[in-house]
Amino acid sequence: MVQIYSDRVLQADSSFIKDILSLTEVEDIISFAGGLPNPISFPMKEFQESINRVLQNSGDKVFQYSGTQGYLPLRQWVADRYKKRFGMDVTADDILITTGSQQGLDLMGKALVNKGDKVAVESPCYLAAIQTFALFEPEFLPISLEDDGLNLEELEATLKNNDVKLLYTVPNFQNPTGLTYSKEKREAIFEIIKKTNTVLIEDDPYGELRFEGESLPYIAGGKSENSVLFGSFSKTLSPGMRIGYLCTKSKELMGHLIGAKQSSDLHTNVLAQYAIYDYLTNNDYEAHISKITALYKQQCDAMIAAMEKYLPAHVTFTKPEGGMFLWADLGEGISSVEVFKRATEKKVAFVPGDPFYTNIKGAGTLRLNYTNSDPETIVEGIKRLASVL
Ligand code: PMP
Repeated sequence: MVQIYSDRVLQADSSFIKDILSLTEVEDIISFAGGLPNPISFPMKEFQESINRVLQNSGDKVFQYSGTQGYLPLRQWVADRYKKRFGMDVTADDILITTGSQQGLDLMGKALVNKGDKVAVESPCYLAAIQTFALFEPEFLPISLEDDGLNLEELEATLKNNDVKLLYTVPNFQNPTGLTYSKEKREAIFEIIKKTNTVLIEDDPYGELRFEGESLPYIAGGKSENSVLFGSFSKTLSPGMRIGYLCTKSKELMGHLIGAKQSSDLHTNVLAQYAIYDYLTNNDYEAHISKITALYKQQCDAMIAAMEKYLPAHVTFTKPEGGMFLWADLGEGISSVEVFKRATEKKVAFVPGDPFYTNIKGAGTLRLNYTNSDPETIVEGIKRLASVL
């Protein structure tokens, strides 16, 4: 009998995660497991107006096939914002609109990764980046993530001793940890990576959601050819619209990414691109973002205060300056998968640390999301977690 499934999908078994997520969907459970933005971040009335306007003025365009790189005014808007916020020297030609930034990961895999190629990732790493890259059958090289960014000695040694194709980072409010790279580490990583031809991915879906401190310049951003920066409207406007973007100064890489995207989906949904662009040009996006960050700060503060009050002293955790997650460490010898099973019996859920690592099982770490529960629910959920610990 022929083995009908590809080696690719067979080795990328995701049943553990599916099992975990199914347990978090039980009725009346308090779930800190998901990664959903709070629905307040969906400007529904404004979107309705935008969609109506777009249908009225550009119906012939939005229902038609379109160019692979994306709607030019939207690309121009993204380039202008990079210029305004970070002084980056980018143009609309350096931007590719993607079907969520998740598609950017897939396109990078398609354009760059052969079976067995080395892909360096943060440890712990965004789970769906591991899953996406895994389909290209690379060898993962994990690099420890510290409170202020990647461990520099490990990074330097990994890049020196291996031909690393890709280095994947989430420098702002990282998923899963909520950690942000310091300015010093960003500069040091740039110095290390510029001596190589490793391609750096800076995946930044959360950067706009800063509720404390100052925005920091990207590691490479517009500064180098061998780098790609991802962004997304998923966390500020709507994940369901599936509008993300990537930015690279490398014409050659851009050409290959456009080619890869063409074979994936021809182009991103045109109605969604026009609607987002219309929204951005007719509304106060900054005010909208401020509303979201004020809400998330309140929710994050509630979670931190409850954790300080109710959890045992051996539990340590991150204190994010933005984004949607925090990361707890239960201490030596405690498996968070075991804790997870008991926690779901007490009707509280989180994501245990294991699937965020490419090389660790039985981790004592876990991810908590604070954006999708109100402060009272957050306190009750943490009390339940405390009773298990
Ligand atoms: N990268 C990271 C680090 C994420 O956390 C997410 C969303 N969970 C994505 C990419 C995908 O986002 P999008 O909706 O833009 O595809």
